[in-house]
Amino acid sequence: MTELMLQEKNGAPPPLEPLIYELSVPGRVGVNLPAPDVPLADLPADLLRSSLELPEVSELDVVRHFTRLSQFNHAIDIGFYPLGSCTMKYNPRLNEDMARLPGFAGIHPLQDPSTVQGALALMYQLQEWLAEISGMKAVSLQPAAGAHGEFAGILMIRAYHLANGEAHRTKIIVPDSAHGTNPATTAMAGLQVVEIPSDANGDVDLDVLRGVCGDDVAGMMITVPNTLGVFEAHIKEIVDIIHGCGGLMYMDGANMNAMLGVAKPADLGFDVMHYNLHKTFSTPHGGGGPGSGPVAANEKLAPYLPGPIVDILEEGDDETPPLYGFVTPEKSIGRLKAFWGNFGMMVRAYAYIALHGAQGLRDVTYHAVLNANYVRAMLKDTYPMPFDRICGHEFVCMGHWKDAEGVHALDISKRLMDYGIHPPTNYFPLIVPEALLIEPTETESKQECDRFIAAMKQIAREAHESPELLHEAPHKAPVKRVDDVRAAKQLVLCCRVLPEGESAE
Ligand SMILES: *Cc1c(COP(=O)(O)O)cnc(C)c1O
Repeated sequence: MTELMLQEKNGAPPPLEPLIYELSVPGRVGVNLPAPDVPLADLPADLLRSSLELPEVSELDVVRHFTRLSQFNHAIDIGFYPLGSCTMKYNPRLNEDMARLPGFAGIHPLQDPSTVQGALALMYQLQEWLAEISGMKAVSLQPAAGAHGEFAGILMIRAYHLANGEAHRTKIIVPDSAHGTNPATTAMAGLQVVEIPSDANGDVDLDVLRGVCGDDVAGMMITVPNTLGVFEAHIKEIVDIIHGCGGLMYMDGANMNAMLGVAKPADLGFDVMHYNLHKTFSTPHGGGGPGSGPVAANEKLAPYLPGPIVDILEEGDDETPPLYGFVTPEKSIGRLKAFWGNFGMMVRAYAYIALHGAQGLRDVTYHAVLNANYVRAMLKDTYPMPFDRICGHEFVCMGHWKDAEGVHALDISKRLMDYGIHPPTNYFPLIVPEALLIEPTETESKQECDRFIAAMKQIAREAHESPELLHEAPHKAPVKRVDDVRAAKQLVLCCRVLPEGESAE
């Protein structure tokens, strides 16, 4: 029995704090199902559960529950969200309208391609645009996330070497500044990670790179601009060193927001890369999914792309449109996902690219880079910066001062929440102590950037004058400072509020 019910029974006044989870009342219903219009049939008994504890709630209970939860959360639609590496830009509402058009939202993946030619035309055009933006030859829209695109790319590199009789190429070089998915991808593909350090400027250490190059190298994975926010100064040399020893270059394209219409990965010498449609091309992604990580490849690797991809089967003319269909590239590594990828996100990316056009996409990058550099320049006398140089679309600073020993990056992040601002990315990249990775994105105005700068400066003052304010933050959020250590040790994976001492299993 819930606390609320007990109190009702005893005639006690309802609690002041709204109960969050335990709303179920036996017999309460929120749906009215129509009488069945098909004959009733028994379901296979061995497939049924003997009991299913579903909450018994009214429609209003459900609406209030989820509306309340949504108010506990921060979102790009509420305020500044400088979560570095995640590109939390505003997602134009037009995208949502387009993705909900019945002709897109209501189609079934098993429909005959002849009945969904419009959807296929959209996928084809998106492949073409992503190929154009990257300078690559061909694109597969299959992968369901950036990490999934990485996985595709590494399998393609491996398949290429195997096809050339070079099975001994088993090493992938990954800089120590890399996103965690890069070494994870390499390991999942069965290859070996060789980590190389960054130098004092945040670039790859070229001497170390030359030292590890040999005929056992399959390739290198690198993010451009890298996760420290800086554009690798020696990228051409890096590409030449790897190509020189017979390896291939993979570009982690999660940071394409800093390159759109300005530089093409293929021109820099990359062989294969992925996009994060949910980051660069604006699908809401704060809640962890769905994602879309198309992979783009040059002439050399295009035949290995995961399939199927969309192609023109019969050219059209003035009277008839072309006939689109699915094809599998000649030496494809195979299928990576059921059906055709996360189609709704393709519609959003298509709408976003069509809305901006070529100039508009270049302006996205100009403004993203300008905003990041503006905020960086305004904060560099207040927060220690490991690399004092022009950044791409994000920059890293340190949330710690020698004369405010007890204050750490986490305290600054928690305090930002009191100012209605989402914390930056904390403690990543791993090689910068007390890292705060800040990415304003292009969709923030100068006024919003100024509000963030003012909050950061105010917090720096507080850190020196009244550090307890930071240690106890957040003060205004619905959930106060959580005990990270206890949360990790006593993991509670269900939503029930358990009596003290009772475990969740
Ligand atoms: C976000 C990100 C990834 C992983 O992308 P997912 O879509 O989350 O799998 C990889 N590399 C970098 C640099 C990223 O920022």
